[in-house]
Amino acid sequence: MEENLSGVDDWIAEAACRNQNTANFFILRGDPQQRAKRIEAYAVCKVCPVQRECLDYAVINHELGIWGGTTDRERRIIRRNWTPLSEKRAKLKGYSQFA
Ligand code: SF4
Repeated sequence: MEENLSGVDDWIAEAACRNQNTANFFILRGDPQQRAKRIEAYAVCKVCPVQRECLDYAVINHELGIWGGTTDRERRIIRRNWTPLSEKRAKLKGYSQFA
């Protein structure tokens, strides 16, 4: 999988939620089906082959809704200690700008 550092990555083509109901991923406050929708969305994310890429994208871009099996509230906490995938991969390749 090639990574496009401009922000919109190729991983989106492999997303398990591509043909799913987006209402389960962007749940409105006060929705009486909130819990059921969240559980359904999490189940899709759990088997998604690009969950890590999706989470990375959502953390970096401050997305709202469920991305990478997390809510935006959970990602606010995650963001404090987050190292983007591109940075981790660069370190593995030995690029000096991230060393
Ligand atoms: S992790 Fe969840 S929200 Fe992200 S692409 Fe996969 S199914 Fe969609």
